Amino acid sequence: MPKLLLVQPTQYAPDGSLCKQSRLYLPGLAFPLLAALLPEGWEVDIRLEVVDEVDPDTDADLVGIGSMGHATFRGLDLAREFRNRGKKVVMGGYMASLMSREVLKHVDSVVFGDAEASLPELLHDFSSTGKLKSVYSRPLTTLAGLPVPRYELLAQKPIGGMLPVQAGRGCPHTCSFCSIACLYRGRYLTRPVDEVVRDIRAVRDLGFRRFYLIDDNIVSRPDHLADLCRSIRPLRMEWATQCSLELARHPELLRLCVESGARMMSFGIESLSQEGLDRLDKKWLRVDRHEGAIRTISDAGIAVSSEMILGTDGDTGETLRDTVDFINRVRLPLPRFYILTPMPGTRFFHQVKSEGRLLTEDFTQYTGARAVHRPLRLSPEELTEGYWKVYRRTYSWRSILRRTLLHPNARRHPIVYLFAFFVSLHYRSYIRRKIPPNIF
Ligand code: SF4
Repeated sequence: MPKLLLVQPTQYAPDGSLCKQSRLYLPGLAFPLLAALLPEGWEVDIRLEVVDEVDPDTDADLVGIGSMGHATFRGLDLAREFRNRGKKVVMGGYMASLMSREVLKHVDSVVFGDAEASLPELLHDFSSTGKLKSVYSRPLTTLAGLPVPRYELLAQKPIGGMLPVQAGRGCPHTCSFCSIACLYRGRYLTRPVDEVVRDIRAVRDLGFRRFYLIDDNIVSRPDHLADLCRSIRPLRMEWATQCSLELARHPELLRLCVESGARMMSFGIESLSQEGLDRLDKKWLRVDRHEGAIRTISDAGIAVSSEMILGTDGDTGETLRDTVDFINRVRLPLPRFYILTPMPGTRFFHQVKSEGRLLTEDFTQYTGARAVHRPLRLSPEELTEGYWKVYRRTYSWRSILRRTLLHPNARRHPIVYLFAFFVSLHYRSYIRRKIPPNIF
């Protein structure tokens, strides 16, 4: 029986060691979904390196490696080890798609974009000839008809209390720095509500009471989200997702989300500089509405986690200081920060390169924690230093406690804010070791 090994690499710490955890709280969906799509007769082994060992002397016939953020470079090292032992190696995921030319120096094949549609052709080529094309690229045109992911393969690992369920993919916006925009080019695909609910039931049947909806921007189609919430509500489960602050402008939808069990959402707040947002083609996001929107969503009963970028062309040293004050003032339970990074393939990459502001094309430096371009009003050194300062200040003990256990809504939803407290401690330990806290 042919065997496929799927490996999600972990990232390297600054001292070169591997980042390991005793538990992975938010495992991804791609591998259990691909496992469910394998033709009969294929065996599969999933290895999440942050919690699992990865043995290069595997008995698998074919190796698939995921690429998420900076862990991609660990993935390329693993790819070399597998290939040295005669294995065929395929890499997929958004980083492999964005920097396929670089990745192809180290692997046999790259799957561009969504892997589901390319998988049958790739396996057929491998089984019939033992050879692979260098690139497989079949964009998905619909998310209807996907099978139930093989959740049992995740449930047997040391994971947290939630499993992932896909709701939609892509985004109708086309912000110039965004890798999603680069891959989906303004397309947003939703799954049929009944298929999403079928997968949530599968999660519940495994004994889980919480799930997180995987979606790049779940409020992209408010009518669809409303239908989804109405169908989720009778299941009496709790859920989390990623969303845009637009949700605050739809009070009825916000109410439906909360009633259906939404307890935590991550929002792309991005920046406190309107000029910075405008220059990144994100004009529709209004800085003067951030605070009100966060309060509206938080008061409705949803804990707000945020993604922010530092180093836009509107940012100064003062903006970085204001960012810390803002986080503490609105008491955001789980803020995350990234240095604005011109990912290859994005319009922002071409822009800063043509303006002579790109500092390096050594993509191993593109960690999101180090400036690799020159912003207009900050030096790269000021930006990198400022990034760690913002993280240290927002993850001080005082700030963590005020934003989580002492948050005004913590009494209404103690489990959610306790969860935020423990995640904050986990992030704090990463920050102290100067590792960007993006694994959980
Ligand atoms: S709204 Fe978010 S997901 Fe959509 S293109 Fe902009 S940054 Fe990307």
